[in-house]
Amino acid sequence: MSVEAVLFDVDDTLVDHSGAVARGFVQRLSQVAPAADRDAAAAEWRRLEELHYRRHLDGELTWQGQRRERVRGILAWLGQPVPAGDDEVDAWFDAYRTAFEAATAAFAETVEVLDALDVPMGVVSNNSTANLLAKLERVGLGGRFEVVLCPDTDGLPAKPHPALFHAGCAALGTARGTTAYVGDRLRTDALGARDAGLVGVWLDRHGRGAGTELPEGVVRIPDLRALTGLVAGSLPGRRVG
Ligand SMILES: [Mg+2]
Repeated sequence: MSVEAVLFDVDDTLVDHSGAVARGFVQRLSQVAPAADRDAAAAEWRRLEELHYRRHLDGELTWQGQRRERVRGILAWLGQPVPAGDDEVDAWFDAYRTAFEAATAAFAETVEVLDALDVPMGVVSNNSTANLLAKLERVGLGGRFEVVLCPDTDGLPAKPHPALFHAGCAALGTARGTTAYVGDRLRTDALGARDAGLVGVWLDRHGRGAGTELPEGVVRIPDLRALTGLVAGSLPGRRVG
């Protein structure tokens, strides 16, 4: 297998999204329910995010709609009044988002790995383009990628639909069979990429796949640094201006 280009997922692959959600939520919780069980509330917030973000990807909720459902869900869980109108709910989320954004950072090894890869690189995410570009800037990764692609770019379907992976390769100008897609989700990222004809790389930081049989055609790496060994011609010093 030869890998001559890399497309990345962003959240929990290059950027510590889960850590930022946890830190941002705990801060918001300290403002609105300081006596609540912090770990249980944070776990519920994460569950609500997974649930309603999935409904958004399935076309059931708008971007803003999934945020509102998450806020209403956590308020109900906390036993607090749930506003009927959207304005109060949006203000609640905005206060959380401010804390979340302040807590968002790239993983410690991200820049080192990007520096070491001497191949064309891009990001393909299910986020919105405006959000993603702002996030990359905020964490110091702005301008690092030749391609930044989200479903809203051309009205493309979200991952794991093959069209988004194909569009990533087309934008990068690389062949699917030698382009790796690296992401933390087995189904959405690695299997989706593999089914689209790319090299699907599952970044399994938590060892969920240890001791289990990997689906054919998927490469599992325990951390981002392992990527440099997969990629042909990895050299230090490459930067995209
Ligand atoms: Mg991810």
